[in-house]
Amino acid sequence: MGVNYKAEVVGVFGFPIAENPTGIMQEAAFVEIGLNWRYLLFEVKPEHLADAVRGARALGMQGFNLTIPHKVAVMTLLDEIAPDAAKIGAVNTVRRVGDRLIGENTDGKGFLRGVKEEAGLDPISKKVVILGAGGAARAISIELALANVAELVIVNRSRQRGETLVADLQNRTGVRASFESWTGNYQISQQTDILVNATSIGLFPDVDGRPDVSLENARHDLLVCDVIPNPPETPLIKEASRNGLKVLTGLPMLVGQGVIGFEMWTGHRAPESVMKAALVEAFGD
Ligand code: NDP
Repeated sequence: MGVNYKAEVVGVFGFPIAENPTGIMQEAAFVEIGLNWRYLLFEVKPEHLADAVRGARALGMQGFNLTIPHKVAVMTLLDEIAPDAAKIGAVNTVRRVGDRLIGENTDGKGFLRGVKEEAGLDPISKKVVILGAGGAARAISIELALANVAELVIVNRSRQRGETLVADLQNRTGVRASFESWTGNYQISQQTDILVNATSIGLFPDVDGRPDVSLENARHDLLVCDVIPNPPETPLIKEASRNGLKVLTGLPMLVGQGVIGFEMWTGHRAPESVMKAALVEAFGD
């Protein structure tokens, strides 16, 4: 075969987009594997999303990620939605098969990968308390339900959002799920196996933010997870570690969804440690 100067292109569509760190780990992975691929950040206003997807098709992009505010709106613009993404009701990753664009959701899968591989815990038959009912909580809770947890408790400030998520969980997965209103301090019970902070509390620059939960009555082997990737050591994670509890930061979830996306797009095994190191270095700045 002759020379090939053509780079393959993937990227992320969002608005705003400048602070999105995903490209750091994907570009590091391309360099590590020696692939002539680029991951670009595209600032796409909501009214231009349909044109952006048409552009991705026309330019032969191999796939793309979606972030706020496009994860739901993109669904009607694709040729197929993966079953779990349909249950979640959002798409964060698009892969290309021939001329078809297929919508996936890797946020919850990335989280699950972290629980299994980083924390060494199988969530099957476990009771999980999730703080929050937004996009991250939705992706995580649906994937946990599909992984056969025993019970999910959704704890959220806004009742309507929490109850809607619980109804969707019950109707779409059949899991045992309930809503608890988050007013004041929420006590984590002895029966809880896994606690997940899936709110945005603690995300940079809110570095002192800590969800109002008490770990006092928690059992000694509770796993405390936070979705916040930056900074990974949130006040909740620090306190849980001080109390001798097992912890999982938001970094493995972010790396995990990137690993899954990389492998879907390129067909190569992702260099996970390189991707993680690239993010740690970026967040350290
Ligand atoms: P959403 O805006 O969809 O949801 C935010 C959630 O946080 C809601 O449940 C909201 O409650 C709750 N919340 C926010 N502020 C407060 C507060 N002060 N007190 C109580 N509850 C609060 O955001 P996403 O779900 O998309 O994202 C949540 C976080 O997850 C973000 O910080 C994001 O960075 C992180 N994330 C991490 C990923 C990773 O790979 N590590 C991947 C995806 C997201 P209410 O409904 O009452 O407003």
